[in-house]
Amino acid sequence: MTSSRTTKGRGQLYDTILDTIGDTPCIRINRLAPDGVRLYVKAEAFNPAASVKDRLAVSIIEEAERSGALKPGQTVVEATSGNTGIGLAMVCAAKGYPLVVTMAESFSVERRKLMRFLGAKVVLTPKAEKGFGMYNKAVELADANGWFLASQFETDANAKIHENTTAREIMADFDGDRLDYVVTGYGTGGTVSGMGRVLRKERPDTKIILSEPANAQLIGSGSEQGRNETGQPAHSHPAFEPHPIQGWTPDFIPLVLQEAIDGKYYDDLIPVAGPVGMEWSRKLAQQEGIFTGVSGGSTFAIAMQIAETAPEGTVILCMLPDTGERYLSSPLFEAVPDYMTEEEVALSHSTPGYQMAAE
Ligand code: PMP
Repeated sequence: MTSSRTTKGRGQLYDTILDTIGDTPCIRINRLAPDGVRLYVKAEAFNPAASVKDRLAVSIIEEAERSGALKPGQTVVEATSGNTGIGLAMVCAAKGYPLVVTMAESFSVERRKLMRFLGAKVVLTPKAEKGFGMYNKAVELADANGWFLASQFETDANAKIHENTTAREIMADFDGDRLDYVVTGYGTGGTVSGMGRVLRKERPDTKIILSEPANAQLIGSGSEQGRNETGQPAHSHPAFEPHPIQGWTPDFIPLVLQEAIDGKYYDDLIPVAGPVGMEWSRKLAQQEGIFTGVSGGSTFAIAMQIAETAPEGTVILCMLPDTGERYLSSPLFEAVPDYMTEEEVALSHSTPGYQMAAE
């Protein structure tokens, strides 16, 4: 390194927070990746509300404005495990739409608080009713009040924004370079379906690897999802079990994801256990300084699995959907103490000033 770090500004002023969505960086993994393999992560936490779902949120609202489905000042309603709600709350705040979110009580408390801080109303649904319950509540509220239902699991605005932004960014950033694997999980399936549309055509040699929770292998089970005429799930999927990878795999196969299944947009489907994902999230934080949630750690676990046996020169891109800060009250942070550890107390007592006990 020859000179000190400098910056030069972005070279533009932004008219709205919404114009800062997307163009997230692909970052090299230096310490964890095996020698001879170039492993990159696409860090979606760089979006303004810190997750991949900012893309979806602005797409749903602006496509609905264009089509006339959303009228000025009309209330928007959606069932979401958090990131979509936070993204929608940010977009609705910037554009002046009221937002109501339905959410199962099992999701982390900071997600509810973030949405409320951004001006949304959060209506909780019972844990026992799973994703299907919060979804039905959103539909009921929309019907009863004439609200605009965002329909993240069915709307084409979902895969479309990943086709037009996420995939385009990958194409541009790896232009002229190798790209052997892209690894992702799924929630709605928007990321994989949108990326698949572009990569299958324009980079057919790139292998797309999809992952799902080891204890909720909806796709892996081979069991088909029943739907009604609008594509909404007709029942909870038999292979679903509650799993700790928030944002991944609801208790049904979404219509948006079905496109990736039917279109064979992935080359391999590899399950991952939640605790393994959490371990990799911690390693990314502590050995790379890259802060991501449980789904990011889980995706990264699979990317590392591929990297370990990949031939020299292999290039891998791993999607990291959000920031780890969204999980402070979740099992991801369970082992992180509030008070000083023995080692920290020993440090406190090793010099004369301000010596403190553990509590
Ligand atoms: N991880 C997290 C934390 C998420 O919130 C989501 C979106 N629900 C995903 C992964 C999956 O993204 P997608 O909906 O595009 O499949």
